[in-house]
Amino acid sequence: MAFAASMAAADGAAGQTPQTFPRMAPEAARQVSPPLAELTDRVLFGEIWRREALGPRDRSLVTVATLIANGRAAQLRGHLGRALDNGVTPLEISETIAHLAFYAGWPAAISAVAEAKAVYDARGIAAGPALAEPAAPLELEPLAEARRRAAVEAAVAGVAPPLAAQTNDTLFGELWRRPGLAPRDRSLVTLVALVANGQAEQLPFHLERALEAGLTRPQLAEVITHLAFYAGWPRAMSAVPVVARVLAARDAAAAPAPAPAPELVIQRRAAHPAVPGPAGNFTGTPQVGSRFQVEPGSAIGGGLVAFPAGARTNWHSHPRGQTLIIVSGEGWVQRDGGAAEPLRPGDVVWIPPGLRHWHGATAASAMAHVAIAGAVEGNTTTWLEPVTAAQYPGP
Ligand code: MN
Repeated sequence: MAFAASMAAADGAAGQTPQTFPRMAPEAARQVSPPLAELTDRVLFGEIWRREALGPRDRSLVTVATLIANGRAAQLRGHLGRALDNGVTPLEISETIAHLAFYAGWPAAISAVAEAKAVYDARGIAAGPALAEPAAPLELEPLAEARRRAAVEAAVAGVAPPLAAQTNDTLFGELWRRPGLAPRDRSLVTLVALVANGQAEQLPFHLERALEAGLTRPQLAEVITHLAFYAGWPRAMSAVPVVARVLAARDAAAAPAPAPAPELVIQRRAAHPAVPGPAGNFTGTPQVGSRFQVEPGSAIGGGLVAFPAGARTNWHSHPRGQTLIIVSGEGWVQRDGGAAEPLRPGDVVWIPPGLRHWHGATAASAMAHVAIAGAVEGNTTTWLEPVTAAQYPGP
């Protein structure tokens, strides 16, 4: 005994005993088609029916609607019983059958009646209390209903006036307004009937309606997958591109409008003439024009500085450094402790952050440069003392 118990414990620890599934397939299937029986137990009932993204109640509604729409009376009885067990009410089954008369045809609905009667009789469900429907019809969303009615008038009324009238007055005016089956469930069984019968043309309208009524995208994905098993793979696969188009269109409609293309900003010279550089920061008087300061939050600014001969900056530094691009004339740049370096048009100078320096024209020639500097809290330059005549290179 002890040995047997320890072996059992070892097996349990290994955890690899094959998973067993409830036997759901009919016994005949085990004899006629063992793979069908095995797939029925393991995949259809062991996996698909257990997927949580669509509950058992919805799966039963989908299955029953598929069987009714496809005229599978032989399987309907068992699934009607399962539907009742899964929480579909007799009233909802009653309404589903009536609803599918319109979407799969009267014969399909009438055939379902006999199966439902057998199930109700077996369970003692009497017509009357269980099938009593609340009195007040549902109100349809007025704008959507007006659009739908207008589309029917435009497309159908000219060819088949009585069909248009029945569509507007009976199908949408009565059936869709019956409160015994929630609008989301009416949409669900309608989708099922369309997919199960391969009617892709009507699918977009009813997909939109179902999503508006609260069917979620994950549920929709489960419905299509579930249908593959009950209506066949081709029906499910044919629905997929239609669903994809509808979802893409809804995503596009819901996406925020693209931001307008940004506008060019042109600062005209006439409106912003050059102004003299502040006297305290220069020897001589440079003209500072084409000043630019990019948007608040972006931290560079600068301008075009034109020095007459002999004019120059004071000693100064830049907290984020500075770039100079020489555009005309001849000039100097000098760092603290270094030699004055000559500047010619086209030269580019990088002045590292915090480095004490000056720049300006030569004594004999004017010089102009573009200056670009980063700012710290709005400040690009720390100004110091003038460059003395003794420090300034001679002619
Ligand atoms: Mn500088």
